[in-house]
Amino acid sequence: MKILVPVKRVVDKDIKVRVKNDGSGIDLANVKMSMNPFDEIAVEEAVRLKEKGKASEVIAVSCGVAQCQETLRTAMALGADRGILVETDAELQPLAVAKLLKALVDREQPQLIILGKQAIDDDANQTGQMLAALADLPQGAFAGKVELEDGHVTVVREVDSGLETVCLSLPAVITADLRLNEPRYVTLPNIMKAKKKPIDTIKPDALGVDVAPRLKTLKVTEPPQRGAGIKVPDMATLVDKLRNEAKVI
Ligand code: AMP
Repeated sequence: MKILVPVKRVVDKDIKVRVKNDGSGIDLANVKMSMNPFDEIAVEEAVRLKEKGKASEVIAVSCGVAQCQETLRTAMALGADRGILVETDAELQPLAVAKLLKALVDREQPQLIILGKQAIDDDANQTGQMLAALADLPQGAFAGKVELEDGHVTVVREVDSGLETVCLSLPAVITADLRLNEPRYVTLPNIMKAKKKPIDTIKPDALGVDVAPRLKTLKVTEPPQRGAGIKVPDMATLVDKLRNEAKVI
């Protein structure tokens, strides 16, 4: 049984992003890039299922520029068996990625597709849901626990009101939430092993997908600077300021 894990190359989570002077986007020059943190959790889950003998192969896929190969190498150092790079310099929006993944699902026929719940750059939280719709597969988004059994998977979902447990027939789409697991560290021997694992490179055209963006970014701005705090002498002043200055009560 194959598991497909889409992994996105994003600005590293510990980097403070800078908006370009012309407000057209984020400055990516000389910025450290890493695997989207939720995708590390997705890879870890897939590798654990393989280690438990419940899956036979873990395939990592990344869509984007040639450097996404590095993200695939990280996935393989975490334990994925092989990688697929869908290479393009075009700006990829979630719908385009979902269409590319749908084409790969048709090609590879995985029983499970585990994505991250959200990419930390666009914060879209759309790709997994769109893929499930396009491929007409059941979905368990925001998974906090996954149990794979014959022909179905039980997913405990982290929803606003608590935890929801759903049982999905396979093949199915899952998106990984923060508490699903704690990904292992990448070790040097595994980085070396990952260098020998195969990566197939495909262009979107070969998958028959038009990746042209559907949305246009009009402007990107920094969040407003937070003003300095003040000390108030007593509760009455606090309530007065909240009511009459901040106008929040
Ligand atoms: P998003 O819908 O953009 O928040 O992304 C949700 C998830 O979709 C990510 O955590 C990845 O698992 C997957 N994904 C999004 N974009 C890409 C990409 N360019 N390449 C591979 N996987 C992606």
